[in-house]
Amino acid sequence: MPIYNTYGKRPIFAKKKRKLAFFLIPVFITASAFAAKICFTQYYVEKTPASPEPLPAATAAMTALPEAAAEETISPVQTGVTAGLTQNVNLLKTLERKDGIKTAYLTFDDGPTTSVTPKILDILRRYNIKATFFEQGVMIEANPDVARRVYEEGHLIGNHSYTHNYNEVYASEQAFISEIEKVESLIKHTTGQENIFKVFRFPGGSDGGKWNDNKQSYKQTLSSMGYVYCDWNALNGDAEGGVKTAEQLIEEVKETTSGKEDVVILMHDSPAKKTTVEALPAIIEYLISQGYRFSRLDG
Ligand SMILES: [Zn+2]
Repeated sequence: MPIYNTYGKRPIFAKKKRKLAFFLIPVFITASAFAAKICFTQYYVEKTPASPEPLPAATAAMTALPEAAAEETISPVQTGVTAGLTQNVNLLKTLERKDGIKTAYLTFDDGPTTSVTPKILDILRRYNIKATFFEQGVMIEANPDVARRVYEEGHLIGNHSYTHNYNEVYASEQAFISEIEKVESLIKHTTGQENIFKVFRFPGGSDGGKWNDNKQSYKQTLSSMGYVYCDWNALNGDAEGGVKTAEQLIEEVKETTSGKEDVVILMHDSPAKKTTVEALPAIIEYLISQGYRFSRLDG
């Protein structure tokens, strides 16, 4: 038999519950807001410089695609930014999408080396940034431990041909395929990956030079092998002319990234590139100050 209050309708213990609810609801709302703020801060502030997660923009692009189109274009090794997008063999064109998010893709070519690559890895780790390393097959064979460290620290290893010798890489379609397959096999065996993100960077770039005709026809070859290729739209200039000072490299990055929403920056981790290491922290801090987030080429 319930005990009624003076209003005669509501049980007394219900009033107590109401009081409890008035106390608990603000506590709950405050706790939820606090938890949401922590999540927001962790994702957008801490993760933004080097999010290994699929990007919000890429996710939006993926969900915007009709299901049938997505099914046709996703292959097992396609993740992140390229997943769900119609595969363009020229990855740079896909990355240069105007989505209002400034993204910097740091790329290091011609390693791995024992003298320069570990120093670059140390800097990237300090800033919690993931980058892409276009490695040569002969260098992976020479320095497998460094290649493994690149992979284990969360960076993407891209294919930069086996010999990097233009006269061999571009001599014939068969030679071109063989160079790429050798590196693919080395990446898989060295890192223990079964599936890799198939991205190639043409030694010397995909356009121009003595072997230009062959390069153009090999773009179709790459596509049939399930590869995309990626040139660059910014650089630190560490491959041009003689050794440049760190200040010159930083200046080159400022000039070549100016006005661009998405930047794929060409740098090198070959043995002679000591000023590339020296300049890297300032380059990263400049890009952060300009509002860029950082990502691997596979998003
Ligand atoms: Zn190269």
